[in-house]
Amino acid sequence: MVRRLVPTILCLCIWMATPARAEGPNVVASIGPVHSLLSGVMQGIGTPELLLRGGGSPHDYALKPSAARLLHKARLVFWVGPSLEGFLVRPLAGLAGKVGVIQLSVGGHDDDPHIWLDPRIAATIVGKMVAALAGVDGANRARYEANGRAMKAMLVALDKEIHDRLKPVAVVPYLVFHDAYRYFEKRYDLASQGAVAVHEGRAPGARRIAMLRRKIIDTNIACVFTEPQFEPALATTLIEGTGARTAVLDPLGTSLKAGPELYPALMRGLVDQLLGCLGANG
Ligand SMILES: [Zn+2]
Repeated sequence: MVRRLVPTILCLCIWMATPARAEGPNVVASIGPVHSLLSGVMQGIGTPELLLRGGGSPHDYALKPSAARLLHKARLVFWVGPSLEGFLVRPLAGLAGKVGVIQLSVGGHDDDPHIWLDPRIAATIVGKMVAALAGVDGANRARYEANGRAMKAMLVALDKEIHDRLKPVAVVPYLVFHDAYRYFEKRYDLASQGAVAVHEGRAPGARRIAMLRRKIIDTNIACVFTEPQFEPALATTLIEGTGARTAVLDPLGTSLKAGPELYPALMRGLVDQLLGCLGANG
């Protein structure tokens, strides 16, 4: 009788303890890739909120009232920094002292804010997330740390995979739409010849288009990459009669489902598009 009762009590205790532990802190991420890494770190504990939804560019985004409310309820907010999510500078300043704000960018590569496109930096970001979450939710520290270790192992494998896959096209010259890939190109030693848009998210004028067409011909550009947020007609104008092709790169994973799988899918999507467009010339 007594021997049978003990396991029953133990089971009850575990059952009762589980819901309380599963309550994660209220956490918000600015953009899809940051949200994805955060989702991985919080797996089994909670689900973070995502601010930038619906395919917008973070460079010229306007914060919706629903997103502003999420910020007010948050315990922690993760963002890249003022050079990427300009729309968050004022709202976050207004929350100073009330919400823990974690800026992930540290500068470098001429202040390209698209830091997540280097998986080694993504691993550093994971480390910052683990530390910040354990700081406000010490009860789940071991879980955050275990998730962080699994994420870092995934990122090391992903980094090697990308390196191996891109090696055959590393010498093929191409243009990108906006200056978002310095970290990615530096990491995988790619032959980018620059960006079409001078300013983040702004289309080039007629003089620049003529200059770019000259460059495409003179430097034997194999591909001009656009992005989902930007006008595809521009790429068509640029490559017309040059022999270059065009394809789409999505550095934010806007077409992908939010969650832990977004980040590796986004990175593999970039590789697929690069190989597809640069491969035939390689
Ligand atoms: Zn950008």
